[in-house]
Amino acid sequence: MRLVLVGPPGAGKGTQAEFIAENFGIPKISTGDIFRANVSGGTDLGRLAKKYMDAGDLVPDEVTNAMVRDRLAESDTVAGFLLDGFPRNVSQAYELDGILGDLGVALGVVLDLNVDNDEVVRRLSGRRTCKKCGHVWHVEYDKPDADGVCDRCGGELYQRDDDRPETVRHRLEVYGQQTAPLIEFYAGRKQLVEIDALGTVEDVTERAIAALTPFADA
Ligand SMILES: [Zn+2]
Repeated sequence: MRLVLVGPPGAGKGTQAEFIAENFGIPKISTGDIFRANVSGGTDLGRLAKKYMDAGDLVPDEVTNAMVRDRLAESDTVAGFLLDGFPRNVSQAYELDGILGDLGVALGVVLDLNVDNDEVVRRLSGRRTCKKCGHVWHVEYDKPDADGVCDRCGGELYQRDDDRPETVRHRLEVYGQQTAPLIEFYAGRKQLVEIDALGTVEDVTERAIAALTPFADA
């Protein structure tokens, strides 16, 4: 199973990535993990990437592509992989084709986690983070006993800037604009599978596994 996972902020992508990868016995490969491994390992690419990150710049595609190429050449990907965070655009999608082609394999399927934007705003903007211990509560789904106070440590709860409704809406818009061409690209190739990512984590995992199982031997 060679799989790419895509989905907007608030779709629970990181959590689903872990469960899906575990279910199919494949490594979960996220660009975040690849960056961290290269930077902490002090590789040439890691040092290069760090230069851009320290300057507050985006790491250029060539650097990211080269890291992904190295990672996919490792032996644990023989049975497949789940890629999270790559490709981000159509040009990287072609790059992935090239990397896999050089390895003598092909991409199997792209799973897109669909979410309703209003629901994502409700989910994220209800989050309240503890100033002291960092625990995240939710005003609807996971309320502390007393409003604004952490049950675990008594710390004060606040809403992170990232979780403000207007910020969430903006992030969803940006994501939609950036990812739409990529989704269309894979849909055009008949490699795209979409599932509804609303509901409990378990429900979504079940849906994802059911949708992906036909591709398990691909
Ligand atoms: Zn706390």
